[in-house]
Amino acid sequence: MNNDCLYCNKNQTQKDLMIEICDLKVSTVFLFREQTYHGRCIVAYKDHATELYELEGEALLAYMEDVNKVAKVMKELFNPVKVNYGAYSDKLPHLHFHLIPKYPDGPDFGGTFTMNPQKVYLSDEEYKEMVISIKSKLK
Ligand SMILES: [Zn+2]
Repeated sequence: MNNDCLYCNKNQTQKDLMIEICDLKVSTVFLFREQTYHGRCIVAYKDHATELYELEGEALLAYMEDVNKVAKVMKELFNPVKVNYGAYSDKLPHLHFHLIPKYPDGPDFGGTFTMNPQKVYLSDEEYKEMVISIKSKLK
């Protein structure tokens, strides 16, 4: 637990950026509000780890299984050609992966995704539908 961390605090800044979908084995899944990459999610580790190498054995395996599970659900629901995985956290050191569905005719295909393009936002109803469909596949 780190008091300055939005993933630990679940503060308003976090709520402005993402919507909580559900907990998995060792992580929490969020829908990223900015939806330039249709279906984009975040998988955040349950504890305040900074680096992937801080996890070992069962914890590491469980986290990678959670990430994998979300990627599979993305494929099933949104049918991207590729899922990109981003774990940067330079300024927000709480272990989390951005899962970015990429589409051949979509933005940045063949390149690196933009962290927050601030272009595509959905209606509350559309977010709700996505959260429900993702959640139902993850359970
Ligand atoms: Zn944290």
